[in-house]
Amino acid sequence: MRLLLNTLLLIFSLAITALCLWFASHAPWYGILLAAWFFALINTMPFAIMHEAVHGVASRSAWGNRLIGVVAGWAFPTSFLLQRRAHLNHHDNTRTDGELYDYSLAHRPRWLRNI
Ligand SMILES: [Zn+2]
Repeated sequence: MRLLLNTLLLIFSLAITALCLWFASHAPWYGILLAAWFFALINTMPFAIMHEAVHGVASRSAWGNRLIGVVAGWAFPTSFLLQRRAHLNHHDNTRTDGELYDYSLAHRPRWLRNI
């Protein structure tokens, strides 16, 4: 049931985002702004579903999480596997010295923070 609901939400959100892209390509400038705003709002849904899949809760099965995570990843310039690896690493290291991307420590080279 969980996988079915997330699949329906994913299909709905991907369809709406595609509609926003189509609308933006045919609209005047103010329509483009409206489409971009709505695209940004609705495109959080595939990311949220991919996030659930990363944590293994979008479906009760591993294959369901992988399948819906891969499809949700199509909405972003990343892959599900890369996102899963990076995101779980993020949770393992949140707010530690090893995962500082918003500022530099005095004893570390500044260029190193973005790697
Ligand atoms: Zn998370």
